[in-house]
Amino acid sequence: MSDNKFETDAIRTQLERSQFQEHTTPMYVTSSFVFDDAEDMRASFTEEKIRNIYSRYSNPNTTEFVEKVMKMEGAEDGYAFATGMAAVYSSFAALLSSGDHIVSARSIFGSTHTLFTKYFPKWNIETSYFDINNPDEIESLIKPSTKFLYAETPTNPGVDIIDLELLGKIAKKHNLLLVIDNCFATPYIQQPIKYGADLVIHSATKLMDGQGRVLGGIVVGNSDLIREIYLFSRNTGPALSPFNAWVLSKSLETLAVRVDRHCENALKLAQFLEGHEKISKVKYPFLKSHPQYEIAKKQMKLGGNIIAMEIKGGIEAGRNFLDAIKMCSLSANLGDTRSIVTHPASTTHSKLSEEERLAAGITPGLVRISVGLENIDDIIQDISQALNN
Ligand SMILES: *Cc1c(COP(=O)(O)O)cnc(C)c1O
Repeated sequence: MSDNKFETDAIRTQLERSQFQEHTTPMYVTSSFVFDDAEDMRASFTEEKIRNIYSRYSNPNTTEFVEKVMKMEGAEDGYAFATGMAAVYSSFAALLSSGDHIVSARSIFGSTHTLFTKYFPKWNIETSYFDINNPDEIESLIKPSTKFLYAETPTNPGVDIIDLELLGKIAKKHNLLLVIDNCFATPYIQQPIKYGADLVIHSATKLMDGQGRVLGGIVVGNSDLIREIYLFSRNTGPALSPFNAWVLSKSLETLAVRVDRHCENALKLAQFLEGHEKISKVKYPFLKSHPQYEIAKKQMKLGGNIIAMEIKGGIEAGRNFLDAIKMCSLSANLGDTRSIVTHPASTTHSKLSEEERLAAGITPGLVRISVGLENIDDIIQDISQALNN
C-alpha cells in the first residue's frame, strides 16, 4: 500500500498506461481477453498466472475501482458487483450454510431486510434482530450457530448511530464475522475495519457515484473471506459492468470534496430544521441533540448527508410536505448531487408491517432528506416553503 493520503489515492491509483500514453484510465469494454498460446491459456486457468480471462471474473476497470475502495477502507481485498444488493446477497450466500444464524440490527435497508426475512429462511438461515438503542441485548441473541453480526451505521432511514467499537468487541469475543454496510458514511467519513469489521459492503450507487448515474456495489475486507465471495460470484454472475466500474472509479476521484460539501450543507439544513415549529424531531448525527452524538463524533469524521425529520401531523402532513416541494426531487435514490426527499413508510419500507416499521423507528410522519450539492440557501428555501405551505 502507498503512503499517500486518502484524496491522493483516490486520484492516483490507476492501471498501467497502455501504448497510447493516455492520462486517465480508458474503458476496457470487452467481455473476454486473449491468450498468447496454449501454455499461457493453461497457466491462466490454473491461476498460476493472475490475469484477466473473462469480465465476469475480472476486468481492468473493475480492478481499478476495487483497488481504490480497498485503499480507502484499509482492506486486504475486494470484489465489485452490479448493485449494492448483489454485494449484500453474494457476501452472505457465499459464506453461510444451512443452519447458520445472523444477528442483525433491526434498522437496515429495506431489501436487506426482505432478504433476511423472506429468502434466507428458505435455506434454513435465520436472523435475530437487536434494537439499536439497546445494544446490550446483542449478546443475549448470540447462539452457537451465529456466524454473522450485521449492521448499518448511520441507519436507513432513521439516521441512528451504532457503536462500531462495541460491535467489534462483541464480534471478537464470540468469534463472529462483523459485516458492516458502510454506504451512508462512505470510507471518507468512517472506516469500520479499524474497529474490527471483517467485511465492509457498499452500494456504490449512492455517494460513491454521487451523481445519480450508475448502479454498483462492492465488498472489501479480509482476503480469505473475499476469496470465497469471489469464487461464488464468478460462478453466479453478479459482476459489475466495465462501463459502470469506469464511471465509479472516476467518481471516487471527487468523493472527498463532494462529501465535504454534502455534509456542510446537511449540517446547515439540520440546524435550520431544529426547533422549526412544524417539526417535532430532527435527527442528524452531528447535532448535539442526536441521541448517539458522542458515538457519532467518535467514529465519524463528518455527519453525512442524510437527515431524518418528523413532521407534526403524521402521515397527512408528511405527504402534504412532499407535494409542496418545488426544487428537491421525490426519488428513490440518495447521495446524489440533487437533494432528494422521501417518505419511507409509504415507499422503501412499505413491505414491512406497521409493527416492524415502528420497531425500526419508521413513524408515519418520518421524512428522509438526502442533502445534495445545490446552493444551501436554495435547499433551505425549498424545504422552508414546503413546511410553511
Ligand atoms: C441503496 C442501499 C443498498 C442497496 O444498493 P443498490 O445499489 O440499490 O442495490 C444497500 N444498503 C444500503 C444502506 C443502501 O442505502
